[in-house]
Amino acid sequence: MDVKNKWDIIIVGAGPAGSAAGYTLAKKGFDVLILERGRQPGYKELFGGRVYAEPLKKIYGNELSGAPIHRWVKKEKLSFVDGNKLVSLEYQSDTSTSFTTYLPQLAKWMADKASEAGALLVEEVTVDRILYKDGKVVGVGSGPDEAYADLVIDAEGVNRLLLEGLGLVEKLKPEQVAIGAKETIKLGEDKINERFGLSKGEGMAWLLMGSITDYIPGGAFVYTNKDSVSIGLVLHLGHAIKEVKEHISQMVEKLRLHPQLRNLWIDGDIMEYGGHLTPEAGPAMMPKKLALNGLLITGDAGGLLLNVGYTIRGVDFAAYTGYLAAEAAIEAHEKGGFTESNLSVYEKKLRDSFVYKDLTRLTGMQDLYSDAKMFKALPKLAVGTASRVFEIGLETPGIWNSFTQARKEAGFGLFSLAWKGYKLMKKM
Ligand SMILES: Cc1cc2nc3c(=O)[nH]c(=O)nc-3n(C[C@H](O)[C@H](O)[C@H](O)COP(=O)(O)OP(=O)(O)OC[C@H]3O[C@@H](n4cnc5c(N)ncnc54)[C@H](O)[C@@H]3O)c2cc1C
Repeated sequence: MDVKNKWDIIIVGAGPAGSAAGYTLAKKGFDVLILERGRQPGYKELFGGRVYAEPLKKIYGNELSGAPIHRWVKKEKLSFVDGNKLVSLEYQSDTSTSFTTYLPQLAKWMADKASEAGALLVEEVTVDRILYKDGKVVGVGSGPDEAYADLVIDAEGVNRLLLEGLGLVEKLKPEQVAIGAKETIKLGEDKINERFGLSKGEGMAWLLMGSITDYIPGGAFVYTNKDSVSIGLVLHLGHAIKEVKEHISQMVEKLRLHPQLRNLWIDGDIMEYGGHLTPEAGPAMMPKKLALNGLLITGDAGGLLLNVGYTIRGVDFAAYTGYLAAEAAIEAHEKGGFTESNLSVYEKKLRDSFVYKDLTRLTGMQDLYSDAKMFKALPKLAVGTASRVFEIGLETPGIWNSFTQARKEAGFGLFSLAWKGYKLMKKM
């Protein structure tokens, strides 16, 4: 680290959380150093995804119009897949609250915003320890180098090895995380518009569950970027370890080659393949404290990601919690310093925000994820009913009769189905 070694604030990680915090603090005139282990911000992130705009608007205001937005999502699709058949629910609208983007491009844009505001970003530095002295975090170390600060913001992402090193969190357990794998397929703008029924600038976000993940709790996704599509899987790691029979890359390949999907990207070129962990357990994997003497924890490192199956909110939650950490730091500074009691306003801000409210309220999908039987039975029920209703031979089957037969085949009692559905809906 060939930079001066005393700063107001050091941020570890230039992902959405670290960069949003750096931008907000540097704008206020703090002396901010952001350390990133990758060759550039977002370098370790996978390509395309969908990001909700409103939290980013709160941070960047009108500047967000300069972000690398690929398409505004105007079409949402949710499909149950059983073998070669699928049942879909599609929602179309003129309004849009989310956009597709390449996450590395967005991460770079956010880091550039922090730099423009005055933060110093240093790349290719892996922080290997957080320095702790006399009951307070005092800086960070990387090999023989050390840098000191009045406040360290940990935005290191899901692996959180630094927090583990400090004894603030335990080693990640498989049931606390999901494994994601993704391919990005270059296709061309016109072909995407034609094949997905989109107009220029319009995007689609598509989630699929069922046999597409071998009924392992999790799901598949398809996002349309400007001239490419991102396809991939997210699997609950606790289940995947026990139940996956093949490499996850083979499962992504099966998704790409699925008979009902493959024509959508048939002549495209695969640009990228990658895998990554993502937090899954919500509040259960949060460190006991997110604010300590001289330390704030934000983004995925704090377990602050929402995955409710039909959508994943990682980037906007990370950015917004980075922003809240910065606001808390500003208030703590005005109160006299970065003590645990002054910084605890961060936890209050989090509790009062949509982030914590969503994480604690929308626990229904978490329950569904731990209910592997339900995860298998639901797609079978949906596809079983639809195939009976639509595949007409001589007789025309009634809907209720088709549903009843499919329900029995899927192994659902009527009352248990109603009870589970009621419990789930109440928590969603
Ligand atoms: C397959 C998959 C698909 C996803 N799709 C979406 C999606 O469509 N929409 C969405 O909103 N979210 C999505 N997510 C989640 C989203 O990517 C994360 O929630 C988000 O990136 C978290 O931001 P963060 O800043 O907390 O952490 P990260 O983005 O992980 O950033 C952490 C940064 O810290 C750096 N770092 C780590 N350790 C160190 C160290 N010791 N020293 C220096 N630097 C360090 C890393 O290199 C990285 O740049 C997806 C995740 C996966 C796995």
